Amino acid sequence: MNYTHYPLLTNSTNNLSKILGLSPNELLLIAGPCAIEDAESLLQLALELKKLGVKYLRAGAFKPRTSPYDFQGLGLEGLTILKKIKAATGLKIVTEIPDASYLPYFEDVDIIQIGARNMQNFTLLQALGKTNKPLILKRGFGNTIDEWYGACEYILKAGNPNVILCERGIKTFENSTRNTLDISSIALTKLSTSLPIIFDPSHASGRSDIVEALSLGGLATGADGIIIEVHQNPHASISDANQALSLETFKELVNKLNHLRNNLL
Ligand code: PEP
Ligand code: MN
Repeated sequence: MNYTHYPLLTNSTNNLSKILGLSPNELLLIAGPCAIEDAESLLQLALELKKLGVKYLRAGAFKPRTSPYDFQGLGLEGLTILKKIKAATGLKIVTEIPDASYLPYFEDVDIIQIGARNMQNFTLLQALGKTNKPLILKRGFGNTIDEWYGACEYILKAGNPNVILCERGIKTFENSTRNTLDISSIALTKLSTSLPIIFDPSHASGRSDIVEALSLGGLATGADGIIIEVHQNPHASISDANQALSLETFKELVNKLNHLRNNLL
């Protein structure tokens, strides 16, 4: 299949490295906890991540949880914490927007994340398309590549060229992993568009013991970046504890990613 029915996606140019302040071949490395839990622990983690070369801190203020009884995130208070940590550390911040009405609160967010569950929220896509914010468009776990590209085209058509596509795993019959990381979509995206493609081995697997293997696999497939959940004490993480990497494990992974990028790709 070719994707000429999405002319803006297929004819896009990738100027995101410039907008994101990365050197032309630099891997976009985004890391941080699933959710903002409290200011002090996030600050400590952010400082450690910075030492490891991370420039973009991820952390959710609004958490879309399957159960309404699970921790929903700190909401606007979380956003305030994140902005303070940005000011204190110089790290750029990446966080998910729950819906279009929250846009005014996201001015200081460097990359706005569109969550998998919102991939076809067309009102949100159009609202974000009217801004010039860098966006991460996560693939819905029940969506085809064509539907994902269609969602991207909505944003591009509304006028925002700064889209980063993110493969985060899809639902299959397999239940040993939380989702199935579809690395074909990474390879196909490299053939279909110049837009950057990153991937999320944490939500794709749901288990920290294979995050490293998936990370290396996705990078070798040609991804331009990676978004990973890291927590100073993974077992105590309020959300997604099973998939969070410890700082020690993440450090080893960063070394391996750099080695792979510099020597094999
Ligand atoms: C997340 O990255 O915090 C998240 C909820 O991911 P997804 O939208 O891919 O489930
Ligand atoms: Mn999570």
